[in-house]
Amino acid sequence: MNDLTIIPASGATIPAAFKARHLIDGAWVDSANGATSDRHSPAHGTLVSSAAKGAKPEVEAAIAAARRAFDTGDWAFSSGASRAAILLKVADLIERDLDRIALLETLESGKPITQAKAEIAGAADLWRYAASLARMIHGDSHNSLGPDMLGVVLKEPIGVVSIICPWNFPFLIVSQKLPFALAAGCTAVVKPSELTPSTTCILGELLIDAGLPAGVANIVLGFGDPVGEILSTDPRVDMVSFTGSTGVGKRISAAASGTLKKVSLELGGKNPQVVFPDADLDQAADAITFGVYFNAGECCNSGSRIIVHEDVADTLTEKVVALSRKVPFGDPLDPKTQVGAIISPEHLSKIDGYVQDAVADGAKVAMGGDTLSVDGLGAQFYQPTVVTNLRPDMAIARDEVFGPVLSVLTFRTMDEALHLTNDASYGLSAGVWSRDMSTCLTFARRAQAGTIWTNTWMDGFPEMPFGGVKESGQGRELGRYGLDEFLEVKTVQMRIGDTRQPWVAQT
Ligand code: NAD
Repeated sequence: MNDLTIIPASGATIPAAFKARHLIDGAWVDSANGATSDRHSPAHGTLVSSAAKGAKPEVEAAIAAARRAFDTGDWAFSSGASRAAILLKVADLIERDLDRIALLETLESGKPITQAKAEIAGAADLWRYAASLARMIHGDSHNSLGPDMLGVVLKEPIGVVSIICPWNFPFLIVSQKLPFALAAGCTAVVKPSELTPSTTCILGELLIDAGLPAGVANIVLGFGDPVGEILSTDPRVDMVSFTGSTGVGKRISAAASGTLKKVSLELGGKNPQVVFPDADLDQAADAITFGVYFNAGECCNSGSRIIVHEDVADTLTEKVVALSRKVPFGDPLDPKTQVGAIISPEHLSKIDGYVQDAVADGAKVAMGGDTLSVDGLGAQFYQPTVVTNLRPDMAIARDEVFGPVLSVLTFRTMDEALHLTNDASYGLSAGVWSRDMSTCLTFARRAQAGTIWTNTWMDGFPEMPFGGVKESGQGRELGRYGLDEFLEVKTVQMRIGDTRQPWVAQT
């Protein structure tokens, strides 16, 4: 462990605990029963926030407010230009408050402060991009239906949207959903994770400051049961937009089927990076190191599975291990830190359980494989870990470990690499490393995943759609497809002139 790069407690000042409340119909409210839940910093152990814990009355009031705000038509029929103006203002306000938002994000999630700042800046860009889409909504016209008919296809907002978010990228993920829903003319009820409620509440403050009308975006804090469940079943909700685990995604899909709501799901992944022998191994090793340790591996896009050609497997593994020792793990508040704390003690033991089970089943730990104690902070950290000598059927090679743990598998032929890639219940993202463009393109076309990266990993742009196939989800976020998710199609058929032939014979 001594040969790792560990950043001790920085001694940075931690602000007083944030008080998070529900935002319902433009007003900040506590829960009717007064219930709250506290969140402590996973790295520092200090109290970060005390949040209202929602129950049925708060969820029902928020849904009623969103329904009312939609049905009046004031927001849904407002011009794209006026909605864009508000979204642009929100982007400016996010940038104004970037440091404050990033600090709370770091304290609740355990992610490094420099990364949190980059995510908040990226979120502002998403609000700007969504603003541009608000002015581009249009349908089709059909001028070839005959001399006396004109057909028009309208794109309309789908209605009231429940937005349910996870803890790993709290501000970024709500910003992949809410501005697109608002650009479309929808109204919303947002539920952040119970572990990371505060920055969504700050976003609520900014929405009010930007002039968003009351009831258009509401926030209810609390747990999946009952808040998320009511948001998935209430008949007044038209769509659920969910990001989180595949297990909860399946429950939401089943719950929403009772009222046939539209459901869009961004779920887990076990994302492979496939390395051919002609690849630039230094570049690949760096991207693999980034892919597996970014956000402590608590990332749907974690490149947690390496499938490397046998001829270069040892060399590549050695390079990844050498780089892993240099990645600064430790106090998320120190700007030098690149990997912070694990979200909860329960999750830490789940990560370790995968590693220990694999070892008991014959796997070898090339490095790491244990919790990590950071001077002055305690041990809610996990060491950078590389596990080799795996069989593809082991849980560590198939499940989403969601920690800084890399599984290394090997192959000999393209067919074998594709088989290992596609023999998975997930299909979120995949990567290929080769200097031969036809190797990359063959892989890109045959790999079953929503996103393919060639000779790179985890680049993302507001313009590029993102989402999964198989059990990684359904629907897309970002790009114009991300806007389309929140739009419904309406057909209008118009007769021109008095040419309609009577159906009933005129006698
Ligand atoms: P989670 O599924 O435990 O929780 C996500 C949200 O769902 C939380 O707000 C939670 O309170 C709520 N919830 C829990 N039970 C519910 C229920 N029965 N009905 C409605 N809502 C309920 O996920 P998590 O642990 O917060 O996040 C980690 C997971 O998210 C990982 O699996 C990760 O891969 C996935 N994720 C996916 C993407 C993507 O874009 N594909 C992005 C980030 C995270």
